[in-house]
Amino acid sequence: MSQVRKIPAGLPIEAEVALAPLTTLGVGGGADYLGRPRDVASLVACVDWAEAEGLRVWWLGGGSNVVIADQGLRGLVIQPQMRGLSVIAKGSGLELVRAEAGCAWDDLVLWSVERGLAGIECLSGIPGHVGAAPIQNIGAYGQELREVFVESELWDREERRVVRWNAEDWRFGYRESRLKQEGGSRYVVLAVVLGLWQEKAPSLRYRDLQAYFAGRSNPSLREVREAVLTIRRQKSMVWDLDDPNARSAGSFFTNPVVLRSMADAVRERLAQGLADGEQMPVYPTEQQTHVKLSAAWLIERCGMPKGYGDGAVGISQRHTLALINRGGAPASEVMAFARHIQQRVQEVCGVCLQPEPIALGFEEGL
Ligand SMILES: Cc1cc2nc3c(=O)[nH]c(=O)nc-3n(C[C@H](O)[C@H](O)[C@H](O)COP(=O)(O)OP(=O)(O)OC[C@H]3O[C@@H](n4cnc5c(N)ncnc54)[C@H](O)[C@@H]3O)c2cc1C
Repeated sequence: MSQVRKIPAGLPIEAEVALAPLTTLGVGGGADYLGRPRDVASLVACVDWAEAEGLRVWWLGGGSNVVIADQGLRGLVIQPQMRGLSVIAKGSGLELVRAEAGCAWDDLVLWSVERGLAGIECLSGIPGHVGAAPIQNIGAYGQELREVFVESELWDREERRVVRWNAEDWRFGYRESRLKQEGGSRYVVLAVVLGLWQEKAPSLRYRDLQAYFAGRSNPSLREVREAVLTIRRQKSMVWDLDDPNARSAGSFFTNPVVLRSMADAVRERLAQGLADGEQMPVYPTEQQTHVKLSAAWLIERCGMPKGYGDGAVGISQRHTLALINRGGAPASEVMAFARHIQQRVQEVCGVCLQPEPIALGFEEGL
């Protein structure tokens, strides 16, 4: 920290705070200042102070989708702590649920399932806070946030007012949104409003879930939530301090969405290594012209299976897409290992893997 500033009394700001313990990957340096406002007025006061002091502002949620640079983050990191959760309207089989940015995402899912509300049950067990859920349009087991998203409230630093964005404003895509693309710290999510169904059967679109309930009809919302949590635990995809394979940022790469002709070219390149009857996994997308490939399958094809890597960073033993910190890893090693995987997949398959987590404090992105 170049110069120590006086923090005004009453502002929920601390100086020189380690950030690695606030993330699931557990790497990276500290923040000059960390603010944890419990209401919007306090959040705005923290931002105003940073601006008056000429400090850069960063947003942090549960730290489960970030890689923080070893040199840390200069300026003020703000982790919103507003945790309100309420039903704001009901009608036509829907309840509009408003959740504030600092709620744990999975608390919202549990609360909804217990009220008998459908729409996010398959998103059980995703770590992190509600405020970050739209940033990458979280998705899992056949559901995505955008399917139930109604609107969000954001603080716009430039206009100094609360703005409301609906799903169209957010420009959601597969693990994408306007804020993920644009980066920067102009907007902070204060709350989201979701439209959840009162009388709807749980979603069983995903193959693993269908297999889990094979031979059983009409599982309840609670049972589907439990099934998702069970499957996720088997893959170390539930945040658990005692599970070394969970010290990750979740999936480190998104599944590549490519033109059909490109998928054919990849298939041809890899044809020789396929066992008898083995097929390259290819999934449809919303666009007829494009398909989705499996990043995990491609990585394994390139000779990097679960457990790969003998340093402090490696591939999880339970999930090929999760890069884990086996203990004491610097962020630079995470980045180098990720680049190594990207290069191998590019060389062997001709496919450029895109990182899913957001790099904070690096000169270049991931
Ligand atoms: C074990 C594990 C499993 C996972 N499984 C899944 C999964 O199944 N599906 C999935 O989609 N993701 C998954 N993830 C990734 C991650 O949990 C989600 O992306 C989650 O939404 C990130 O929330 P967070 O609060 O931790 O965000 P953070 O990591 O704290 O932040 C992520 C980004 O959002 C920004 N941000 C945070 N809060 C705000 C705010 N209030 N306003 C504006 N910007 C903000 C940050 O600056 C950063 O750029 C997994 C991660 C782990 C560790």
